Parts: sequence; C-alpha cells; structure tokens
Amino acid sequence: MTGKTHAGIGIVTYIGLCDKLPGKFSYIGIVVVGIASLLPDADHPKGILNKYILPFKNKATKVAVYVGMGLITLLLDHFCFNKPIVKVLGFILIMIGFSSHREGITHSIVGMVLFTLIASYLGKMYGIHQITYYFLIGYGMHLICDMFTKRGVPIFYPFKNKKYKTPVNFSTGSKVGIIVEEIIMMVGLMYVIYRLPFILF
Ligand SMILES: [Zn+2]
Repeated sequence: MTGKTHAGIGIVTYIGLCDKLPGKFSYIGIVVVGIASLLPDADHPKGILNKYILPFKNKATKVAVYVGMGLITLLLDHFCFNKPIVKVLGFILIMIGFSSHREGITHSIVGMVLFTLIASYLGKMYGIHQITYYFLIGYGMHLICDMFTKRGVPIFYPFKNKKYKTPVNFSTGSKVGIIVEEIIMMVGLMYVIYRLPFILF
C-alpha cells in the first residue's frame, strides 16, 4: 500500500473518531496521525519519510543512516540524557537500519508500542496530551491496512517471524491494488467532505 493511501486512511479514521477522543478535533492531531501512518515504512528505503531522511534511496544508505542515527542517540544518552526512553529510540533506529521492508520491528505490535511510548513522552514534553491516541490511530491503521496486502505483516515480531494477512488481499502496485487504493481514497475524501462541517462549525 502506498504512503499516500496510508496517510489518507489514518487521517480519515481520525476525523471519524475525533468526536469521541479527549480534546476532540485538532490540526496537530491530523499532523501526528499523518506522520504515525507513514512511520512503519521507515524500513523501506523509498518510504515517504525516507525521501526526506536519506540522501540516496537504497538499502546500503538506509543501513548506514539509521545505524548512524541510532549510535549517535545512544552516545548522547550515555553522555547527556541517561533516560530509558532515549535508549529505546537508539535501539529502534539501529533495528530499522538492519531490517528489510516488512521483515522487522516497524510492522509489529512491539514496534507500535515502543514508538507510541516515545511519542507519548515527547507529547508530555510539548503539552500535546492526546498524542498517544493520535499516534495509535495512525500507526495501528497502517498495520491493519498492510494485512490486506499479499506480503502480509509480521505482527508478532520478534516473537514470531510469520507474516499475517487477511483471506482477501491484493498486491501493492498491481492493477487491482491501484484500483482498490483509488476507491479507498475517493470514499475517504467524500466522507471527509461530509464530516468536516460538523467538526469545524
Ligand atoms: Zn507498511
């Protein structure tokens, strides 16, 4: 599934649920949900976020940049912060560096929980108290949606390497896949147009 569709589905889900969340609708919510929706594909050198992070979009650069960022984070933690959450971030970055697309931590419940902990910590620091909800919606919907693709998702990594998928699934980039994603985006857009007046006014 493309990054665009992931971000679209995450944001539409947020707009659908925001009435029931503490803090209701917020623009920060849209931004956080969007970023969290894209985050699991940090394990793909051509993922949308990696367009901004990697100077060259290939596997070797991804390994070098993520392992480098992880080591710097661990060193900073050792000499300055000394906080468990910073150590977690350092280790996650290194794991992302070494994992191939959909083979590792980012497409698992463990990854979702660890990233959500980091996001919650940052949220507390910057006064965005609903960040945990925003983050879980974006990240969770990404994992659920990837289960509808042929490649499946190693949801129980690192305990189980097996990839899980729904009985009905499609290949990303195939004719059917492109049509399915376009329909999802169109239906999502119509829903947002219908919902926005209720949320904003
Ligand atoms: Zn993915």
